Amino acid sequence: MHMIIGGRDAGSADDRWMDVINPATGGIIDKVPRGSSADADAAVEAAEAAFPSWSGRTARERGMILCHAAGKIREQHTALARLLTQEQGKPLKESIDEVRGCANILEYYSSIAGRPSGELVQLGPAGDCLVTWVPLGVCGAIIPWNMPVLIMGWKLGPALLAGNTVVLKPASTTPLTNLGIARILQDAGLPPGVLNVVTGPGETVGPAIVCHPSVRKISFTGDCETGHRIREMAQGQFKEITLELGGSDPMIVMDDADIGSAVEGAIRGRFYNAGQICTAVKRLYLHEKIAPAFLKTLQERTEALRLGDGLAPGTDMGPMNSAGQREKVATVLGDALAHDEGGLLTGGSAPAGGAYEDGFFFRPTLVTGVAPGSRLLTNEIFGPVLPVMTVLDLDTAIREANRSRYGLGASVWTRDIGVVKRVFSEVKAGIVWVNRHLTVPPEVPFGGMNESGIGRENGYHAIDAYTQTKTLFLGW
Ligand code: NDP
Repeated sequence: MHMIIGGRDAGSADDRWMDVINPATGGIIDKVPRGSSADADAAVEAAEAAFPSWSGRTARERGMILCHAAGKIREQHTALARLLTQEQGKPLKESIDEVRGCANILEYYSSIAGRPSGELVQLGPAGDCLVTWVPLGVCGAIIPWNMPVLIMGWKLGPALLAGNTVVLKPASTTPLTNLGIARILQDAGLPPGVLNVVTGPGETVGPAIVCHPSVRKISFTGDCETGHRIREMAQGQFKEITLELGGSDPMIVMDDADIGSAVEGAIRGRFYNAGQICTAVKRLYLHEKIAPAFLKTLQERTEALRLGDGLAPGTDMGPMNSAGQREKVATVLGDALAHDEGGLLTGGSAPAGGAYEDGFFFRPTLVTGVAPGSRLLTNEIFGPVLPVMTVLDLDTAIREANRSRYGLGASVWTRDIGVVKRVFSEVKAGIVWVNRHLTVPPEVPFGGMNESGIGRENGYHAIDAYTQTKTLFLGW
């Protein structure tokens, strides 16, 4: 599949290609151009050329195109979801949720196109000031492989509605559905050059976009270390940045919780997308009174999860996205167990034989009695491994929940509003869920504290991150 520069299908400048692999089978499903800095430069030029006309349209005209594209995404959601499962690995039902989620986001931003685009400040005899919000120009969007379609929507919705043009770089393992959605946006009326998609290695294409002097903003989702590098590169050139980095969300289950729904919350929270979500449940704190009953049900439910090809009917959990990602998770888990940092309750390895042989599968895993400070708690485990700890009371749960360099999400499972109040005010997190985990609707801001990143996506505030003020002073 070609990349898209200036509204046209493009190969790379030096005609090199890279394979896209199905993580369930290890087979090649397609090829995309192995873009270089020359391709990134061409995409930025196309985005720059498209900016005056796109930013000159009304927000309502731009919103109509987003809305039209959302309709087309819905019409084609089955084909898009199958493609997403083939390149990413997740079960088809999760891909359908994600593709529809992208349509929801575009619809949401189109629905707020009519919001005011400025304000009047009256200064009496001195005059009046008209403060307007204008787009930044060319924005770079760097996308990860775990939720590529949803995250594409999070970045494009506010950026395009505000009148910016975009150069988007998909993750190298999941470029196909991003390219498919970009084509749908073009079919829906997005003019050439407003959205350009450059495929190719992050190490070369990424810095070429970030460091290009004409790119005014970078929105990145991915690894903390890459985020640090992008921040250094962008700050040197006074660019705006939004960084959505890792998370290590705690889930606290109190002794008055509904155990059945909390177990389901933990299963979905940790094993959805094979655990490869920034806001997955990465640390589970159980009140000691309910711990034995909770663990028994949790183990039964975990062992009942059907692991398989995401396209196969009945699959609950697909493979991990790449061999490298599986290796990372297996290594941290192996090291933790070897150093007695916890005990394996179930899972802990790749399934062998048959349909599992060539894919990147890893069994859903529970580790209990995890020692404070274990690498299972201090690292972001981006895979299906759930460390479980028992706590004596809420004070301990809150203290342990805050022992993290991250602060993305957190959840508490209780019927006690006093507990909710304490967790909301004391746990460092950008979002606190009560009796649920993971849900992120387009209407509310999403982002974290501490090393989980800078800025917020989603909600109408996200548009502020893609605009700057420009004031007209009228001296009467
Ligand atoms: P990366 O941060 O390496 O990749 C995310 C995106 O950044 C990809 O498009 C990647 O391109 C690109 N990229 C890579 N290097 C650079 C660079 N130097 N400059 C600019 N862009 C770059 O994450 P990984 O895919 O390697 O995943 C590693 C870890 O990151 C995971 O184990 C997980 O912990 C975390 N992660 C967190 C996510 C989140 O939502 N919080 C999402 C994904 C990962 P390419 O694919 O071509 O390398």
